[in-house]
Amino acid sequence: MVEAEPTRGEEPIKKRNVIVVGGGIAGISTAIFLLDDGHSVTLFETGQPDKGTSSGNAGVISVASCVPTATPRTIANVPSMLLNPHGPLMIRWRYLPKLMPWLTRLVLNAAPSRVQRNARRKAELLAHASKNYDQLLSITGLGGLTHQPGLLTVFETERGWQQSQWILNLLKDIGRDVEILNSNEIGQVEHGLKPIFQHAFLTPDSGHILDPGKLMIGLHEAFLARGGVRISERVLGITRSNPKSVTVNSSNGEYTAERLVVTAGAWSKKLLATIGIKVPLEAERGYHVMLPKPEPGLSHPINVFEESMFLSPMNSGLRLTSGVELASTDAPPDFTRVRRMIPRALRAVKGLHPDERQIWMGCRPSMPDSVPRLGNISGHENIFVGFGGGHVGMTLGPTIGRINSDLISGRKIDLNLDTYKL
Ligand SMILES: Cc1cc2nc3c(=O)[nH]c(=O)nc-3n(C[C@H](O)[C@H](O)[C@H](O)COP(=O)(O)OP(=O)(O)OC[C@H]3O[C@@H](n4cnc5c(N)ncnc54)[C@H](O)[C@@H]3O)c2cc1C
Repeated sequence: MVEAEPTRGEEPIKKRNVIVVGGGIAGISTAIFLLDDGHSVTLFETGQPDKGTSSGNAGVISVASCVPTATPRTIANVPSMLLNPHGPLMIRWRYLPKLMPWLTRLVLNAAPSRVQRNARRKAELLAHASKNYDQLLSITGLGGLTHQPGLLTVFETERGWQQSQWILNLLKDIGRDVEILNSNEIGQVEHGLKPIFQHAFLTPDSGHILDPGKLMIGLHEAFLARGGVRISERVLGITRSNPKSVTVNSSNGEYTAERLVVTAGAWSKKLLATIGIKVPLEAERGYHVMLPKPEPGLSHPINVFEESMFLSPMNSGLRLTSGVELASTDAPPDFTRVRRMIPRALRAVKGLHPDERQIWMGCRPSMPDSVPRLGNISGHENIFVGFGGGHVGMTLGPTIGRINSDLISGRKIDLNLDTYKL
């Protein structure tokens, strides 16, 4: 049987050769969707698929997480967060001068009208996340690595619960399913938690990846098996761009293609600077500790709201993720703070042992408005970007990939892309 050619409506797709820089979830999804549309794809990536930010995250396909980082509450809480040794925010003070432009924009984005606008822009993309994940997993046959238990957000105090009411209102406002649970109901839906939580809400349409590292390895293998070419070289810059082609250079030479997609996560800023494009992108670094599987175990990923801590049950154990550290991407990790969270996890989870099996740091690529950037760049029509997923970058990777691939294939996009473009 001859397979049908991919099309855009009635017309066949014009086949392009495309360079994708960066093989995290945004880049590898783009690369696979492009191959599926019949394009030739060369992926530049120096790291191992199961070591980067897209492998060490909490694995929540967090389709309801539209609340941006910058809100009046976050900004008001910054001093107390910085003073608290268990707090969720750290800043490497030496990096502060470089961080100032991003921080200034972050504060401006905390104005209530901007919070609403940014939440809606994020929510519009998140609304497509499950469909695009399903498509990526069905193309690659990796569906067994995900399931849909929902995300359970739990509150120990009445104060924390009251403070989160505006988030619930926002979620309802944008039409997300939310189930409210009291302390008895929490015990019924999640047997693995200790009975210390008074309130919770469940977003049942959130999914979960049981082993993000294995998923990333599987996606890279699927890319190669489908004829994709991977070059393990670091791209140093974009050297030429004209309406017909674009050239990048690496330590090994120059490479030219008809289209370029920059999906280099937190490092995208450096690449775009080589063509004079300034992007207010920073790394919100984050940490995880892997602990052994508890008994009886958790059946949902848990957001422990007041601790800013996620507890994510994975195939290989319980992953505790915590914290935002504002620092340069290449500053050495400091695991002190995430280790301090282990006793907090022991308080919350039944049958958990504190043996540290693995410890890790990664870089969330974050824009000050928490809204990803995608599509082609005005003035550089053949250069596409896909970064800025921030706290929901794992959720949005396949959506970033689907949209960029559709644009390169000439399909119509059912979204106002202007708000996401550079
Ligand atoms: C602790 C923690 C928990 C998280 N939990 C969740 C979660 O539960 N749900 C969720 O949705 N998101 C979560 N995230 C966020 C999510 O992991 C990231 O937003 C997402 O992985 C970013 O994907 P990316 O493809 O944009 O970037 P990356 O995964 O960082 O990929 C970029 C790639 O580009 C490569 N690269 C960079 N520069 C170059 C170059 N010059 N040449 C060649 N290659 C280059 C890098 O090696 C890297 O592999 C979490 C993040 C952290 C840190």
